[in-house]
Formats: sequence, C-alpha cells, structure tokens
Amino acid sequence: MKKQFAIIGLGRFGGSVAETLHAKGYEVLAIDKNPNHVQDIARFVTHVIEADSTDENALQEIGIRNFDVVVVAIGEDIQASIMTTLLLKELGVAKVVVKAQNNLHGKVLEKIGADKVVYPERDMGTRLVHSLISPNILEYVELSKDHSIIEITANRFFANHTLLDLDFRVRFGCSVMAIKNQGELIIAPPATYEIREGDLLFVIGNNKDLKKLQEQAYPEDE
Ligand code: ATP
Repeated sequence: MKKQFAIIGLGRFGGSVAETLHAKGYEVLAIDKNPNHVQDIARFVTHVIEADSTDENALQEIGIRNFDVVVVAIGEDIQASIMTTLLLKELGVAKVVVKAQNNLHGKVLEKIGADKVVYPERDMGTRLVHSLISPNILEYVELSKDHSIIEITANRFFANHTLLDLDFRVRFGCSVMAIKNQGELIIAPPATYEIREGDLLFVIGNNKDLKKLQEQAYPEDE
C-alpha cells in the first residue's frame, strides 16, 4: 500500500508539501487550526481537518498514529511545533518530519525524538548563494559537511572530450554520476562517453575537489 501522509500546519511550506504529495498520487490528510487555511487547501488534498495539534485528544481522534509520515510545518509558534512533535512521538507515529525555524529549535526537536528536522529557508538560502556566486551550478545538494552533488552545464572545457580524456577522477578527485543529454539521462556514464556542449553533468565529490573543478572549468566565475 502507498504511504499515507498527514501534514500539520498549512502555511506556504506545509501547503506546498501537502499539494505536491497529493499531486503525486498519495493520500494526504491536511490539518490546521485556522479554518481559512483548511478551506483553501481542501480541493488539493484527500482530507482536511480543522484541529489544534497541541490537543492530544484531537490527535488521537484523528487516528494520527496510523499515518506513515507526519510533517509538522508550524512556523512561528515554536512552542506549538515542539508540543505537537512530542505528542506525535508519544502517540507512536513512526516518522515525524519537522520544519525548524532556527538551530536551537532544531536541536530541541531532535532531542524530543523528531525523526527528521528540515530548515527550508536556510537550505534555500545556501542554494541560492551557490547559484549566485556561480551561475554555472544549476543545482547543489549538500550530502554532509564535506561532500556535495552539483549539477553543471558542460561548456567548452568539457565539450568533445570523453571522461577518460579529461581524466576526470584523477584530475579533479570527483565522479560524474550521471549525464543528461537532450533530455536523456545516462546513469553511471562509461568513461568513453563523449561530452557534448550543453550536457548536464551530475558530479559528486568532496567540496574542495568540486571547487577545484569549478575553478578550472569556469574561470570566469571567479
Ligand atoms: P510558511 O513560511 O510555511 O508560510 P510559517 O513558517 O510562517 O509558514 P506559520 O504561518 O506560523 O508558519 O504556521 C503555519 C501554519 O500552522 C498556519 O497555517 C497556522 O495556522 C498553523 N498552526 C499553527 N499552530 C498550530 C496548531 N497548534 N495546530 C494546528 N495548526 C497550527
């Protein structure tokens, strides 16, 4: 059976999560204490409930523990976010994902048992900075403190060379995981693949090595 999701807090973030999951074919219960927000999202999700998620009885009545994943997207009211997370874990929800306002909020959420804490504003800010500094980086995903995946467009530096010619791994210390050529995705491309200008390269590596690659391929970004 497909996973069932409940989203608590239907601001811009929670609303977008709920709508996107529903559009992808998942069952989504959307919960908010504000009747207007509940009404606005009703057309885009499977069920809506107007309830205060800090009310344990309300959560029990909803049968919240039967959902595979509950996303807590309450923003400003940090106390409500913490209380809700605590109740959800106490009621036995298997996976609770919570949006944090700041690092301290995130730390508290982790301590009380949140399974995943997300920082959408901070992460989006970091990604925007990467694309501002270096317009050739289309996407940036931080895997750990030291490792990332970047998506770059192949320019003349790469064009008409194979990965072997470029001696990619030895020269840059990072690996090309996949290449998108005119919409077609080639996963784990062979070393003999000849890169075309405009190909999208998905490169994984240590941040220092990725930086070295960018400096050599796109010296104009410096
Ligand atoms: P965003 O940036 O995603 O728009 P935000 O971070 O500004 O949102 P808020 O607007 O503070 O977050 O909260 C998001 C939603 O959570 C609001 O629609 C609010 O009504 C709802 N909410 C807040 N507290 C509770 C609660 N105790 N129970 C249910 N919903 C709640």
